[in-house]
Amino acid sequence: MRFKQDFFEQLDGFYSQVYPQPISNPHWLGWSEDAAQLIGLSQPNDELLMQLSANHAAPGASYYAQVYSGHQFGGYTPRLGDGRSIILGEAIGPHDAWDVALKGGGPTPYSRMGDGRAVMRSAVREFLVSEALAALNVPTTRALAVIGSDLPVWRESQETAAITVRLAKSHIRFGHFEYFSYTQQGDKTQLTQLVDFTIQQHFPHLTTDKAGYVQWFNEVVAATAKMIAHWQSVGFAHGVMNTDNMSIIGDSFDFGPFSFLDTFKEDFICNHSDHEGRYAFGQQPGIGFWNLQRLAQALTPLIDSDDLINALNQYQRHLVDQYLQLMGQKMGLPSFEYNQQQVDKKHLDAAQAEQQKQDLALIGEFTTMLEKNQLDYTNSLRQFGQLDPTSTQSSLRDDMQDTVKYDEWFAAYQLRVGKLADINQWQQARNAVNPKYILRNYLAQEAIIAIEEQGDNTKLEQLYQLLRQPFAEQPDMQDFAKRPPDWGQGLIMSCSS
Ligand code: AMP
Ligand code: MG
Ligand code: MG
Repeated sequence: MRFKQDFFEQLDGFYSQVYPQPISNPHWLGWSEDAAQLIGLSQPNDELLMQLSANHAAPGASYYAQVYSGHQFGGYTPRLGDGRSIILGEAIGPHDAWDVALKGGGPTPYSRMGDGRAVMRSAVREFLVSEALAALNVPTTRALAVIGSDLPVWRESQETAAITVRLAKSHIRFGHFEYFSYTQQGDKTQLTQLVDFTIQQHFPHLTTDKAGYVQWFNEVVAATAKMIAHWQSVGFAHGVMNTDNMSIIGDSFDFGPFSFLDTFKEDFICNHSDHEGRYAFGQQPGIGFWNLQRLAQALTPLIDSDDLINALNQYQRHLVDQYLQLMGQKMGLPSFEYNQQQVDKKHLDAAQAEQQKQDLALIGEFTTMLEKNQLDYTNSLRQFGQLDPTSTQSSLRDDMQDTVKYDEWFAAYQLRVGKLADINQWQQARNAVNPKYILRNYLAQEAIIAIEEQGDNTKLEQLYQLLRQPFAEQPDMQDFAKRPPDWGQGLIMSCSS
């Protein structure tokens, strides 16, 4: 790894320098070949294992924990910070630089009551989901590796510690801006420094002046909407959308009790601690907006309220446009291109608006039917995309209790799709966007249990390889596309990670 240290060198006062504490008997549990390439690595090796388990110092690393705050479940916590994640610096890759962080690397000044560690099960889940989302083309932070150890840690019972090696183009969160806005009231120096740094590093086409700030916030709104549209289209529930878990560049970030939907359920809650369903699957678009409002509030010292509000007002447009584009591809609706120029125009013409409304209704009625019939979201879409869209006969219809309702819907769908030139081609295009394999909770759980009980990471490796190509048929792996067995349905994860 070759590091640069832009954050560390330019943002003194935004972090605490802190060295990670080693984990004993470190061993590779998982290694992502795809993530490794991003920072110019190929194979794992023993020295790298010693460095990433904090047993050896990594040459060129700075080791620091960032300070930030955040709204957690709606309430503001004035100081959070990296309680168990230590950043080494920005590793220079062939295309981008990626922060390398040891998540679970030991206590920091921000650990509060925590031990700074991550348990193996949560480290494995973060590793898998980072790479699975990336393979689904969902904007996300990445995971280079997960490293096991025999270091005991206590949660509800004794478990062992592990480290996820996270790669992120940025670790800057909405909560960073909240922290420097509210702790330095009346003094904009640090807030300005942070915004300028963010723009220079991640929005280099923008200027660091008033006009640039406005444009920047508009782009943050768009990127956030885009990320959430992706989540809704693949059936991903994040579970803890606190503002300290929202990345400023719109990458899916900080994974805990997340879950992909098995059975489609709009109000599915994956987080054991989320009693009110604040972060239920169907709430995510609204929560994204709420979080952006919190960010806007923190930015009022630098950006005029009218400009912030104008940008926020575009959120829904971005979200709907992106969602329609993604779902339109998945369901084979005539192409709806997400179009920045149209968004900039602020108003669709009446015909476009009407078409969007109808398409949204068509998609919504489809997912409602899945929900009513308790069908699997991923498998139903895959199945749908392999049907003959010109025929009224279909295996999906056979899964419906109310076939009259389905036929009605299908007639409207056919009307919208019209004549098809080439059905094979249509089906191939659907298979390229409807995954056959997703990271079902029960699959992650099986991989975790094999490690826990036999120290065997074969299943984890197999699952990683499978999810690298979620759209490929992979004939030997059909079992992994199955709906969960009874024990694995609706698994709800706790936050005690
Ligand atoms: P999270 O829910 O993982 O986003 O974490 C919320 C906050 O709690 C962050 O500031 C974390 O760094 C901190 N945190 C979570 N788990 C631990 C732990 N085991 N030790 C120290 N800090 C933790
Ligand atoms: Mg960076
Ligand atoms: Mg977090």
